Amino acid sequence: MCIFCKIVNGDLPCDKVYEDEKYLAFKDINPKAPIHILIIPKEHISYLSDVDEENKHIIGDMALIANKIAEDFGIHKTGYRILINNGPDSGQEVFHLHMHLLGGKKMVFTA
Ligand code: AMP
Ligand code: ZN
Repeated sequence: MCIFCKIVNGDLPCDKVYEDEKYLAFKDINPKAPIHILIIPKEHISYLSDVDEENKHIIGDMALIANKIAEDFGIHKTGYRILINNGPDSGQEVFHLHMHLLGGKKMVFTA
């Protein structure tokens, strides 16, 4: 079972900031910005590229959750970045779909 599925199941701890029936959001263990939160579907999907017509709503749902969390953390006016890595060249390390929410500092684009 992947580490994010273990977090969903409660086998691994997390610093939870949001949960509903289908999604979970928690603080990144190795934050790259003052606010760095991961939003995941509870259902295991390995890659963004596995998303299809049937489950594409997951991406919209995660974006709305990111917006809500940004408000909760007071960064909805200062701005924030959402990011999904997909596959080897992107630097994806955990193969369970997740959206990064980054904020709390001025960011520059890096590739
Ligand atoms: P990615 O490179 O897009 O796959 O990002 C994976 C992210 O998961 C990294 O930013 C890690 O710091 C983070 N991460 C890995 N393990 C954990 C964990 N147990 N709890 C919270 N964040 C984690
Ligand atoms: Zn998983």
